[in-house]
Amino acid sequence: MRNTITFARGGVHPHDYKSLTDKIPIKNAPIPAESIIPMHQHMGSPAECMVQQGDTVREGMLIGKATSAFSANIHSPVPGVVKEIKQVYLPNGVKGKAVVVAFEGEFDQSGKLQELLNWKDMSKTDLMDRIKQMGIVGLGGATFPTPIKFSVREGTQIEYFVVNGVECEPFLTADHRLMLEKTDDILTGIQIVERILTPRKILIGIEENKPDAILLMEEAVKDKGLDIEVIPLKMKYPQGDEKQLLVSLIDRQVPSGGLPMDIGAVVSNVGTIFAIYEAVVLNKPLIERIVTVSGYCLKNPANLKVRLGTKIGELIEECGGFAHAPAKLISGGPMMGFAFADPDTPVTKGVSGIIALSKKEVKSPSETPCIACGRCIASCPMGLSPTVIYKWIEHGEYEEALAEGLMDCKECGCCGYVCPAHIPLVQGMKLGKIMTRKKKI
Ligand code: SF4
Ligand code: SF4
Repeated sequence: MRNTITFARGGVHPHDYKSLTDKIPIKNAPIPAESIIPMHQHMGSPAECMVQQGDTVREGMLIGKATSAFSANIHSPVPGVVKEIKQVYLPNGVKGKAVVVAFEGEFDQSGKLQELLNWKDMSKTDLMDRIKQMGIVGLGGATFPTPIKFSVREGTQIEYFVVNGVECEPFLTADHRLMLEKTDDILTGIQIVERILTPRKILIGIEENKPDAILLMEEAVKDKGLDIEVIPLKMKYPQGDEKQLLVSLIDRQVPSGGLPMDIGAVVSNVGTIFAIYEAVVLNKPLIERIVTVSGYCLKNPANLKVRLGTKIGELIEECGGFAHAPAKLISGGPMMGFAFADPDTPVTKGVSGIIALSKKEVKSPSETPCIACGRCIASCPMGLSPTVIYKWIEHGEYEEALAEGLMDCKECGCCGYVCPAHIPLVQGMKLGKIMTRKKKI
């Protein structure tokens, strides 16, 4: 038995439900007859649409141009013709412009023999430029533009580059499968990032419920003679959050309102690293990603390699449809994901999973008064007092909620998960943030 570590403050241990998909190899989802490609698939401003109705597009063609440093390029996932440009709801409920492409014609990259580019001959600037051009953003869910994350301030030495293989949300196994099936490519991606960031140390954090991935990564690192440490972590949610992961691995706390770079660290998810490998070595833009489609309501849960813009309903069909009608569909994981209802909602860069939950799994007994048990406080990894913040928000006292640390809330859901009174604490935090922005407090 190996010693494992984790973060000390707060956190919960939900059932992980990973056995539904963690032994099943990734398979390709069908190419959609119609792709719906939103211009806003990342944190920051939407991309500017570069095409019009009737235009012919090629696989991987730039169809949305980044409008600022906090934006990202968008590429067509398939060859075809622009059928229309319309407003759609994204999986997170935000409305925005999307290009609808009807699939036709030949693929430029898929199924073709690909030339591997020699990234070792490329300068740091060229590598960064490639990552930017290819529209790479964080694929762990936050969709933070990767070029911004890798832009190290003048005079700053990155001490740790941390690779996030934690995947602590229940049901999700896309990163786990990727580590098993694309081990060497991920290690190449890490070496590319090493060239950019020149960190003193590289760590890969993986939770102990993925022993095969830990072993495989360790063996591959050893075989290649790389100076990378694979660190097994005790299972605890929300360890996949970069702030918690940094506490677990290097025992450093990102300051309130700060970034990992403030403590000399950069964190990237394994899916992002794989996308960087494809962008740099295969010259491939971010046009597909791995999505876990899971839940006991589904006939055949799976991990699918999906073209961005595919309608979620088509992924559910690919998994054999529903064995039982779901009570709730979630984009992302059940702790931090977004509920949605429309099966035509497209997969975007930030969609790590589609989870179909049954009535039993979404049981929500009625709310009762707070019994001041303090469990929400004990569970909060950010050291907040959710019950106090919630009460301020309930009373419209947003300044007081801010003073209690509302903006440090990660919306991880731990407090709501443990609350015996079933008080919708996280919804309260979300509302509080919206209101403080609206009121410009
Ligand atoms: S949702 Fe916010 S307040 Fe609740 S436990 Fe997570 S960080 Fe703390
Ligand atoms: S866990 Fe729920 S009942 Fe207990 S103190 Fe927090 S809000 Fe109140």
